Amino acid sequence: AKSKRENLLSKTMMECYPGIVNTEMFSQLKNCMEKRTSQKMENEFTYPDGTKRWFVLSFEPVPEGVFILSQDITKNKESKEEIKKLSRAVQQSPASVLITDSNGDIDYVNDRFCEMTGYTRKEVIGKNPRILKSGYQNTSFYKEMWKKIISGKEWKGELQNKKKDGTLYWESAVISPLVDDNGNVTHFVSVQEDITDRKRSQESLKIFRELIEQSNDAIEIVDPDTGQVMDCNEKAFKQLGYTRKEYLSLKVFDYDANLTEAKFSEITATIKSKGSLIFETELERKDGFKLPGEVSVKYIKIDREYIIAVIRDITERKKAEQKIKLSEGKYRNLVDNALIGVYEATLDGKLIFANQILLDMIGVQNIEELKDTKIYELYADPLDREKLIGALKENGFITNYEIDFNLNERGVIHTLVSAKLDGYKITGMILDISEKKAAEIAMKEAKEKAEEMNRLKSIFLANMSHELRTPLIGILGYAEFLGQEIKNKELSEMATIIRQSGIRLNKTLNNILDIARIEAEHAQINLEKRNLMELLSEQVKLFKMAAELKNISLSFKCTEKELNAKIDERLFVAIIDNILDNAIKYTNKGKIEIKAKKEENKAVIEIKDTGIGIPENQLNIIFEPFRQASEGLNRRYEGTGLGLSIVKRFIDIMKGTITVKSKEGEGSTFTLKFPLINLVS
Ligand code: ADP
Repeated sequence: AKSKRENLLSKTMMECYPGIVNTEMFSQLKNCMEKRTSQKMENEFTYPDGTKRWFVLSFEPVPEGVFILSQDITKNKESKEEIKKLSRAVQQSPASVLITDSNGDIDYVNDRFCEMTGYTRKEVIGKNPRILKSGYQNTSFYKEMWKKIISGKEWKGELQNKKKDGTLYWESAVISPLVDDNGNVTHFVSVQEDITDRKRSQESLKIFRELIEQSNDAIEIVDPDTGQVMDCNEKAFKQLGYTRKEYLSLKVFDYDANLTEAKFSEITATIKSKGSLIFETELERKDGFKLPGEVSVKYIKIDREYIIAVIRDITERKKAEQKIKLSEGKYRNLVDNALIGVYEATLDGKLIFANQILLDMIGVQNIEELKDTKIYELYADPLDREKLIGALKENGFITNYEIDFNLNERGVIHTLVSAKLDGYKITGMILDISEKKAAEIAMKEAKEKAEEMNRLKSIFLANMSHELRTPLIGILGYAEFLGQEIKNKELSEMATIIRQSGIRLNKTLNNILDIARIEAEHAQINLEKRNLMELLSEQVKLFKMAAELKNISLSFKCTEKELNAKIDERLFVAIIDNILDNAIKYTNKGKIEIKAKKEENKAVIEIKDTGIGIPENQLNIIFEPFRQASEGLNRRYEGTGLGLSIVKRFIDIMKGTITVKSKEGEGSTFTLKFPLINLVS
């Protein structure tokens, strides 16, 4: 229709359409002319100006020739193309597409749907989409969905569905109704996307968020450009006394007391190149209180740059460190000021450490001076070192080994060494006991000397007593004889005095002999069962005379008939003799009472006088040899001070006891106790 009618009429086709003879249209036309059959074809016609249009050409044989009907189908053709494209798009869409009819029965699914669900197209066509239900969503969920799409609106949401093989998956779906020209819903189209992976990563993000929230360290994300806190966990803001909102408005310099903007950009630059950094700082709480913190920062780049910071309150750690430091200091002090040498050495004898005491002990200023000295060179006896090392290797430790060291300056010193072996290292302590040792030796020597002296004294006394006693026998014997024979009264009295003096001398000699015998440990003791009653009354008889001469009454009372004890008769008699002798000697008027009784399993003998008594401060010395209550030149009573010390020793030998109670001017009571012998035995 582009050419004018006049131009076409009365022209041949060949004239109007040059080149037509080579077209399919011409051969169809020819066919129709010659075979007289109708033909139909689609043809794209190109106009002289280049535009193209599609036509359906019908060739009908008519008596006049051929009738050609040409219909323009360009528009039709184009919309068909469009549909083809669209359906291909749906077919090949990366999203899964499902179309149902108005009843909800599946009309169409694309390849992706089959891929996603595992169903073939054949298996689902005509079925209801409920075959995909997982059961996760409840009926009201589906009711809402249907309500919306039936009303002609679009529904969007996430669903958990089930594949053919039972696997669950998440999809995000958009379901929209298709409406015809009259407004009736004819189909529903659902486009869905598998979001299982996204869901899963969302889930793990949630878990991680939770983890971070729960962390006992403050964790935060900081903008590396501004220092602004972008996100943080609960610990971060609580630790410093802020609310989350307040904290998220802070910049790091606001709470890090040591941080300036310049320092922050320095840190940022460092971690950009190094990746991460840990440093200690001071954190300032909202209330101004400062606490020590450890910050560990890391630089990450995802869509943009971030700093992740983990901030830890290290107050407790600092306290503990301080404590360790303190105790370390204390320990060092202890080692340095110990009265004991402390050292560390190698097994082959090289000294690594020595405290001041040890250096002083060895006699050097510092350990450097011992650089060329091996410890074993200091041992007085090299065998000692072998012994010590051997024991160390065997047990791992040694305690209080007595070792002598030979030191240039000081000579031999005695020590106690305790040490511990640790691999190749020996740690030990050396205590210098030289002084103690010297004192011990001196004491031992002194004791030995004293013992020797005592022994010599005893021998001397024994000899002397013997030498003095022998002539005394002659003196006593002849004095007695003279006393009886001489009629001259004056001369006879002289003989009596000689005799009495002799007796007194003899007594003293006996005492001296006794004590000498005990000290020389030659005392012959003969313990036998004896009735103390008998022995006592005999002694009392012997002293009756002496008492009467001084006008003192002497009495003896006993509650028992028998008092049997295991004693040495000679020692027992000597004891009673000495005590009674004293009682008479130190009593000028009044009486002496002797009582014997049984008390539990002891025989108790009490000798009570009304004499001069013993001053309280003397009570404990009277049992010592040669000691008297009144001593010196002004002593008023004769005697050697030996009697009670002999008494005491004899009583000790017989496992008895002696005590004394006395009051000056009133008298004294001596109490003796001896173990009784059981009546049965
Ligand atoms: P001595 O030979 O001096 O009597 P003793 O050893 O027998 O030596 O006694 C020591 C001292 O104890 C005496 O010198 C005396 O001072 C005191 N003494 C002993 N017995 C009595 C007593 N019965 N009354 C007072 N003093 C006593």
